[in-house]
Amino acid sequence: MSAPDVEVLVVGAGITGIYQLHRALEAGFSALLVEAGDGVGGTWFWNRYPGARFDSESYTYAYLFSRELFEEWEWQEHFAEQPEIERYLNHVVDRFDLRGHIRCGAQLTGAVWGDDGWTVTVADGSQITSRFLIAATGVFSVPYFPDVPGRESFRNPSHHTARWPAAGVDVAGKRVAVIGTGSSGVQLIPLVAEEAAELTVYQRSANWCTPLNNAPITADEQARLRADFERIREILNTSASGFLHTPHDRATFDDSEDERLAFFERMWNSPGFSKLISHYTDVMFDPAANAVWCDFIAEKVRGLVDDPEVAERLIPTDHRFAEKRPPFVTDYYETYNRPNVSLVDLKATPIVRITETGIETSEGLRELDVIVWATGFDFGTGALTRMGIRGRNGLALEEHWADGPKTFLGVQAAGFPNLFFPGGPHAAAGNNPRYNGDQVDFITDALVHVRARGSTTIEVDPEAEDRWTDMVDSNAGLSSFGESSYYFGTNIPGKPRKFLLNSGGRPKLFKEIARVKATDYQAFRFS
Ligand code: NAP
Repeated sequence: MSAPDVEVLVVGAGITGIYQLHRALEAGFSALLVEAGDGVGGTWFWNRYPGARFDSESYTYAYLFSRELFEEWEWQEHFAEQPEIERYLNHVVDRFDLRGHIRCGAQLTGAVWGDDGWTVTVADGSQITSRFLIAATGVFSVPYFPDVPGRESFRNPSHHTARWPAAGVDVAGKRVAVIGTGSSGVQLIPLVAEEAAELTVYQRSANWCTPLNNAPITADEQARLRADFERIREILNTSASGFLHTPHDRATFDDSEDERLAFFERMWNSPGFSKLISHYTDVMFDPAANAVWCDFIAEKVRGLVDDPEVAERLIPTDHRFAEKRPPFVTDYYETYNRPNVSLVDLKATPIVRITETGIETSEGLRELDVIVWATGFDFGTGALTRMGIRGRNGLALEEHWADGPKTFLGVQAAGFPNLFFPGGPHAAAGNNPRYNGDQVDFITDALVHVRARGSTTIEVDPEAEDRWTDMVDSNAGLSSFGESSYYFGTNIPGKPRKFLLNSGGRPKLFKEIARVKATDYQAFRFS
């Protein structure tokens, strides 16, 4: 390749891509970022449905690479809402002079490996050549629409939560349906209920929802956060989960029943993911421990929902707590006490078809003005396998991954030189930006290493890819997540059933990164 247009081409202006662009520029590479959306933010650009907010604490999810940035951005709430997050990411882009290196509205349609670089095609037909291609395209970027008969025939507006129009959706006084009760659906439902004339929730499976317990960040807390920056950064950069929450040291049946109930009450009233990280050590893994916690949640639901039949429908019967990624909610259960809200149990009365005017279940047709699809994503591999990536000898990434993703450290695949994908499959199993940031730091170091040794290409050895992939697959059973969760790809019909996170967790990632560095990048080939 003659001199490429840029040395580093980053794809995707989400939290990971923005950080990668910053790190590449800081390391002295010429770099460009292309983004399909009309603005930056990635997940936090597309998922602008009412109620979309962090469920990791704002300051634990945000960037930690700059003390000044941490000090000057005062998050308003412990769990920030989407508009504030989008503003923050735009602030970062301007604060670190990144905007001139970002091209929005540029959907990538193909990426082909040449002798020593990538040629990337954008939807408008233009091409960009780069030495390195870093696809920070995210795990939640391809919305999933179930193949329901007649879906396209509905004449009124219908929207997926992950493609929410910037202008908003008018639900005031309308008959609205929400299909899906995962984290997106349960955030959206209480807010739509306040405006809609009628809201019908179509639930296939109930989820173990617990309160987010959000609150504004007080001036005192802001001051404490600023003063604690180094300590907070140290914990977040080294802890196994990437959260600030302190792990508990007791198991469920170490405590008496009274002590346990008091502890459960504290958990119920605790913020977000502390209900996983700071819970009894065995609650996610010991069925008996899990069952008593689930019983506690079920009693809470029965206490919060007036209609006993509706309450029972909202209590999961098909999975234990943390077998799926648990959602955190604000006023979710209480919403079902409103006279304008009804809950359809799709297991009892499945959808038969979508018609021009509404949704027909086995019980009959409900006329609707708006349908909201909160039906999730083609998680993990969805974006990367749709990008037309062609590696050495024309190898298609979607072929290489036909039986599930194969990676080393969740950053590279064999046969795809100079391609990296931080924050993709086999990446995080905790607070995403922390793990994805680890990968960005590793990739940046690797690029610097390539440059320092006078090479132009870096490609993972197939043996290293096998080793990491075997580790992921063989440890998958140790995770609390069950095969009914999208973490195994089973929400998408026909998708291979493979674990899509790093089942070794962050400690394993750190250990392997240290090994790569100690062995002078032996897991990679250079030319
Ligand atoms: P999701 O968790 O995959 O939930 C999808 C929902 O759609 C489920 O209730 C599912 O039911 C339902 N569904 C799928 N196919 C269906 C069909 N054919 N008929 C009826 N219902 C169907 O997706 P999500 O809610 O968008 O959340 C995905 C992930 O994004 C979350 O787990 C979380 O990691 C992330 N997220 C994070 C936040 C946050 O941090 N604040 C907010 C939103 C999302 P079944 O359960 O029966 O499959």
